Amino acid sequence: MVKSAVLPDIDEKAIADEARALEARYGGLDSRLIIELAVDHLFNEEIAVVSSFGAESAVLLHLISEVDHSTPVIFLDTGKHFSATLAHRDRLVEEFGLTDVRNVYPLPVSLKEKDPFGALSMTDKDRCCHIRKVEPMARAVAPYRAWMTGRKQFQASTRAELPVFEAVGPRIRINPLARWQTTDLQAYMVAHGLSAHPLVEKGYRSIGCMPCTRPVADGEDQRAGRWAGSDKTECGIHLTGLTDTLSNLSPTGTNS
Ligand code: SF4
Repeated sequence: MVKSAVLPDIDEKAIADEARALEARYGGLDSRLIIELAVDHLFNEEIAVVSSFGAESAVLLHLISEVDHSTPVIFLDTGKHFSATLAHRDRLVEEFGLTDVRNVYPLPVSLKEKDPFGALSMTDKDRCCHIRKVEPMARAVAPYRAWMTGRKQFQASTRAELPVFEAVGPRIRINPLARWQTTDLQAYMVAHGLSAHPLVEKGYRSIGCMPCTRPVADGEDQRAGRWAGSDKTECGIHLTGLTDTLSNLSPTGTNS
């Protein structure tokens, strides 16, 4: 299915140029068309989707399932998720008929050496995210030329300029829902009868690991409940840490 374990040497500038060209040509298309284009034509058999199975993940996963339910879906199982998230994952997989969901775990050696008591999130969140999210993410997407995410522009000021197509080191990341608003998501959920994450009704509007997620109050930013009380706003899988990790992957797909 996937043609190579790790991509051959790639000119990252050429990838950046390709991402800009794709954005200019296709970035304004309807989300479903973007997914069809990416899955069936641009990156056939060399594309995956990364999902947190969080508060709004059902929308992208439903669109994906309607295009090709065998598209690989990567879920980073950090070991710190709410049990409700794991149950929501299993429910959506069943409802949408997703046939290739890949649970990706932190390296046992990293947990043993750097987080032997499972409490690293209390003392060093960046390091905890690196071993539980960034490194597994880089490892998971290494075989693909591109992957899709459910990120949206409205979610945070740091995402306000989010394009649909962007370069991440030697690969292309696609954000088919980049321009969707909350009302669009809600309307889609209702129109298609999609199951909501069980924690949404308890005030969780962006859902990550249990130790680093709290509900938000009315009027608060959607992601205000993530790493609340710290300066941290992203786990790193969408930032330069991933680019660096991907660029440094050895020929075996592990970090050099
Ligand atoms: S979100 Fe929190 S628990 Fe999850 S990997 Fe990051 S620091 Fe660790």
